[in-house]
Amino acid sequence: MPNSVKRILVTGGAGFLGSHLCDRLVERGHDVICIDNFFTSQKDNVSHLLGKANFELIRHDVTHPLWLEVDQIYNLACPAAPGHYQYNPIKTMKTSVLGAINVLGMAKRCRAKVLQASTSEVYGDPEVHPQTESYVGHVNPIGPRACYDEGKRAAETLFFDYHRSNRVNIRVARIFNTYGPRMHPYDGRVVSNFIRQALLGENLTIFGTGAQTRSFCYVDDLVDGLIRLMEGPDSFVGPVNIGNPTEFTIKQLAEMVFEMCGAKSKVVFKPAVADDPRQRQPDITLAKKVLGWEPKTQLAEGLRKTIDYFKSIDMKRFRAPTPNY
Ligand code: NAD
Ligand code: UDP
Repeated sequence: MPNSVKRILVTGGAGFLGSHLCDRLVERGHDVICIDNFFTSQKDNVSHLLGKANFELIRHDVTHPLWLEVDQIYNLACPAAPGHYQYNPIKTMKTSVLGAINVLGMAKRCRAKVLQASTSEVYGDPEVHPQTESYVGHVNPIGPRACYDEGKRAAETLFFDYHRSNRVNIRVARIFNTYGPRMHPYDGRVVSNFIRQALLGENLTIFGTGAQTRSFCYVDDLVDGLIRLMEGPDSFVGPVNIGNPTEFTIKQLAEMVFEMCGAKSKVVFKPAVADDPRQRQPDITLAKKVLGWEPKTQLAEGLRKTIDYFKSIDMKRFRAPTPNY
């Protein structure tokens, strides 16, 4: 149990990352309020928490103001998979920008600490490798990913302006590709896609040559990093990269998943997608130094747990996203 129990709001708390964060905060004895509009998630992700006295679930859309009294806010509400955020790009931008304004306004009124789940996408298709927090990015403002990338960049701007102008106690985490149990099997993200395809006997689809890289962080490590940032010194607001620095090509990932699932299908190549970042790897020197944080889970170990989760669910119960590519 923590020394002091906090009332904590998690927006997007029924999503993949949010539900794991709620688990951890509830387990620590905090009073957790989860709000979600279930755009990309389902209640199943938090149904095991529903009977607990220190957990509350509210259906709410963060683009509308919300009046609550809380000590801390984790702002995770936003579709995160390309197929989901491109489904309604204008709503994605509204969720990032109006959502940020609403949680920042609430934080200002309650004097709450507020953490923004930002993203490595603020670096766009990066020309600096690995990416450090001082790199200002290379984002196409009018491309198909812009609704998400620019929305998240605008949210960071709002966080820092509320901090400078109104002394709101902020934290900004730049999250790199994270995976694990409770990913939506049809969200179109590469880890969930490959595992679903391998288990259902479908071909694993590589977009482009497969030479593009990503660095994959297991969800438990990520949640640990977010909590450390929230609970760290007020003098350290970020932005800070939270991710696993071990870099893989998408082709390597496909081969690993194929092998681990004992797939009987094939790996096939499809046309590359527009504005797809060619490389991505976090420099986590800052997180190590200030938060004493670094990921512990190797990709093979995390993939094993994720594959076991996908085997345990009935994938037919999840809706496929609107075709996105
Ligand atoms: P997710 O889609 O599983 O979760 C997002 C949650 O937000 C969902 O439950 C969704 O229903 C909810 N939501 C969306 N729009 C909303 C709105 N207008 N009002 C209320 N709820 C809304 O995605 P995730 O991977 O869990 O991502 C969580 C956060 O972390 C997002 O902000 C995302 O941008 C950020 N992030 C995730 C990753 C990653 O690799 N998973 C990487 C970088 C950043
Ligand atoms: N990708 C792929 N096949 C898929 C899904 C994705 O080759 O079935 C590629 C995608 O083009 C990108 C990488 O995998 O280069 C990561 O994609 P994801 O959507 O998971 O995340 P993001 O691009 O936002 O990092």
